[in-house]
Order: sequence, then structure tokens, then C-alpha cells
Amino acid sequence: MSKKIFVFGEIRESELRNVSFEAIAAAKKVADGGEVVGLLLGGKAGNLAIEMIHYGADRVVTVENDQLQAYTPDAYSQAIMQVIDAEKPDGFILGHTAVGKDLSPRLAAKLKSGLISDVVSLEVVDEKVLFTRPIYSGKAFEKLEVREGLVLATIRPNNITPLEKDVSRTGDVSSMEVEIKNLRTIIKEIVRKTAGGIDLSEAKVVVSGGRGVKSKDGFKPLQELADLLGGAVGASRGACDSDYCDYSLQIGQTGKVVTPDLYIACGISGAIQHVAGMSNSKVIVAINKDPEAPIFGIADYGIVGDLFEVLPLLIEEFTSVTV
Ligand code: FAD
Repeated sequence: MSKKIFVFGEIRESELRNVSFEAIAAAKKVADGGEVVGLLLGGKAGNLAIEMIHYGADRVVTVENDQLQAYTPDAYSQAIMQVIDAEKPDGFILGHTAVGKDLSPRLAAKLKSGLISDVVSLEVVDEKVLFTRPIYSGKAFEKLEVREGLVLATIRPNNITPLEKDVSRTGDVSSMEVEIKNLRTIIKEIVRKTAGGIDLSEAKVVVSGGRGVKSKDGFKPLQELADLLGGAVGASRGACDSDYCDYSLQIGQTGKVVTPDLYIACGISGAIQHVAGMSNSKVIVAINKDPEAPIFGIADYGIVGDLFEVLPLLIEEFTSVTV
């Protein structure tokens, strides 16, 4: 039965995050020939609304409001609840990002609905949509079906292929007014820890360092390799705890979950808590001087050696290929 599915368009630094386009592709499956509607909160949506349509949204609803310029769970959940109230969708899909992870349980509680979080794939079997999500820190997967009520789900970045961008697609863009009151949080200023760079959770290549990197300076060849491959640098908790890098780089059970095309683990032992955040990477390369390191158990390619000898060789090789 065809459905109306809303997709939260997540804006960062005036651009839509890729996961929003992936969410549109997911919504198309859930809608089953019905309507996919993009939702943009904040300031003037302009080109972003058109972009959502080019990636498959049938129409876009925008909400302009001063209180929605920066994300606060309070203001955003109030706005979304009013949109849901007015539009009565059958489903609402967000990215499994910091914002999506914060917002979705609030919406579920307000809507008294269930929530399927961290979806890595969707399939249609016998006209039923099955959502697959990891459990037990990625050791197993469960498949879930929503039998009744609103479909509320977050999708993990980099797992669902967005639809081909089609600039000839057209669709209606309408604006809606909402009333936001009794805010308990007001954002006065946003101070960024790091400027620019590729977002770790959406990077296609991640070069990650562990305690074996041994110092802050030890991360320099990792950064060089990541820059060369158009990727981002990540880290194990061992490296973060040792103060070699910032905790914002931590990958794992208590850090970020990444699913790049290529994950290069340098001086990382492969503890279960780290593996939970990267085991779904498409190709895993491990560099470790201990041939018994558990990381080799999940690696597609293993290099037994000193990372400070191996990385310069890789950098030299890739430089000669890319120049
Ligand atoms: P180590 O285990 O010390 O491994 C260092 C590796 O570097 C070794 O295998 C060594 O052989 C190799 N090495 C050393 N020198 C070199 C060299 N020159 N060249 C090549 N290899 C070298 N960890 C995470 O990563 N993410 C999490 O989210 C996370 N969450 C956790 C949550 C809980 C509740 C707990 C209890 C733990 C968590 N941990 C997490 C910690 C985890 O258990 C490990 O302690 C941590 O991942 C180890 O980091 P590491 O592999 O960098 O360090």
C-alpha cells in the first residue's frame, strides 16, 4: 500500500549531508509508489529544496524560523511535531547522525511510536519492508518490520545508495509556519573544534591510528595518506586516551561508526569495541607489527610491519599513481 514518507534534510554549513539523499532512497522503498516529502528546517532552503527533489523527493516542505537556525532538540522536535500533525505522514526517516540520534528518540516518545535506529539496509519481501540493523556491537543483524503505526527510522550514513541525481526532476516546494515556545536551550554561539575537512562518518576512505602511532606527531603520515586518498583520519580509543588525537576522531562502540569503502587501521590491535565501529567497512587493511593482532582476523589485507616504515611506502606509491 502506497505511503507518504517524510525525510529530514540535515543541513550542515549550508549544505545537505549526503545521508539525506540516502534517506530519500530508503523512503522511496518504504513509500511503495507513494509520496516522498523532504523537510528542511531553518533559514531559506533555496537550492537545498531543489537538490532534494533532484535526488528523488516528490516535494519539499520548508520551515523558516529564527529558532531553527541552529539545531536544538527542543526547537526541532517542536517544529517536526507540528509538521507531522499537519501532514500526517506514514513515516519519517532521518540520518543516523549526531542530530538524528538525538532527535529520533524524542520524536518516538512524543509520537508514542517505535523507532528502528541505525538501519543499514532495507528490502521488500512479499510486499513487506524489512529493515536490517546491527545488534550486539555489529556481531549480528536483525530484520524488523513495522506492522502498524508510523515508520520512524534512522539510517546509517554510507550504507544505502542514493538515487541518481536527475536535474530534470521537478516538485512542489511549500513553506509552513510553526510556533516554537518555552525553549529550554538557546544557542548563543557555535565554536567549531576543527575547521572544514571531510566528515569522518561519511568519508569513503578512513586512515585510522591506534596506540601504535605513539604520539601526536605520529599521526602526520596518517593525515598525509588520508589527504592523498581524499579521506579522513580516525582513531582508536587507545590513541585518544593517550592524548595523541582528539576524541572526536574515536571510532568504535563509544565513538563514531564508519562504513567507508576503504579502512586502513594503523597500529590498532582490533579490540571488539573498536571493531564495532568499523567492521562494516567494505575493504579493511591492517598495518600492525604483531602478526597475532586480532585486527588481522577481520582485515581483507594485512601488512605485518612497522607503520612508520609501511606508511611512507604507501604514500610514495599513491603519490606516483595520483600525480
Ligand atoms: P592497543 O590495544 O594498545 O594496540 C596497539 C597496537 O599497535 C598493538 O596491536 C601493537 O602491536 C601495534 N603497534 C605498536 N607499535 C606499532 C608500530 N610501530 N607499527 C605497527 N603496529 C604497532 N576502543 C575503541 O577503539 N573505540 C571505542 O569506541 C571503544 N569503546 C570502549 C568501550 C568500553 C566500555 C571499553 C571497556 C573499552 C572501549 N574501547 C574502545 C577500548 C578498547 O577495549 C581497546 O582498549 C582499544 O581499542 C585499544 O586501542 P589500540 O588498539 O589503539 O591500542
